Amino acid sequence: MKASDLLRKAFLYTSSVTLCLATLGTVSAQQQDQDPEVQIGQEVFNELKAKGEIVESSPLYDQLRPIVDPIAKAAQPRYNHPFKFYLVHETQPNAFATPGGNVYVVDSLLYFVRNADELAGTLCHEVAHTIHHDTMTLMEKQEKLEKREIGAAILLGPTQAHVLAILLLGKLHSLSYSRDVESRADLTGSDVCAATGYNPWGLVWLFQDFDNANLGQVPQLLSDHPSNQNRVEALERHFRQNPSVFAKFNPDAKSAAPFVVPKNVAEVFMH
Ligand SMILES: [Zn+2]
Repeated sequence: MKASDLLRKAFLYTSSVTLCLATLGTVSAQQQDQDPEVQIGQEVFNELKAKGEIVESSPLYDQLRPIVDPIAKAAQPRYNHPFKFYLVHETQPNAFATPGGNVYVVDSLLYFVRNADELAGTLCHEVAHTIHHDTMTLMEKQEKLEKREIGAAILLGPTQAHVLAILLLGKLHSLSYSRDVESRADLTGSDVCAATGYNPWGLVWLFQDFDNANLGQVPQLLSDHPSNQNRVEALERHFRQNPSVFAKFNPDAKSAAPFVVPKNVAEVFMH
């Protein structure tokens, strides 16, 4: 979606929010006290919920919980807001984290990964973006780029957090971090992953799966996080340099137990 389309959507959506804020006069004062990361995260959550994408309950959570609970526990000391994981329904396998601690796992990703370590590796990478405040840094950069557009939107009355959240949501699927930012998230993610007991080689295996997939099947996750040999090499170097943490993990993907998820599982959506 182009920025101009996003802005148009933001205008439409925020004009109704302005009405709500006018009737709930205390809301904006409360929001001002909050960490902007939490505000933006909450706005994205509200938007995804309004679109009916967030899965409230599903047996898929039984598959996800044993993976995300240890990740949240291992990552929590590095971030000042609680990590929460939500399943969302979209067609392309993907995962994305927003500022404030929310991590969204697209249900189809559960069917794409070959083992739990690949899923854990991906989610640890996303959590690392939150720990590093990468989205905030990128948004600040983009805010400058689109200052006139954002300024115009704010004049109409919505809170800045809301406008940024709308922009972010449109861009979550095409966030372009630099290779260095991605590689740094890989390394921190692998540290978090090692602390959970899941195999940090899972992320390397996922890169290899993506490389082996034919172009027609390459999911969004790959174009968001372009696999390249440098990132794999940086991970391998990190593993070698920290043998006390990583030597116990088997680099062979064949050592991992397959991740089997029943097909056509029911999903109840938040609304
Ligand atoms: Zn990334």
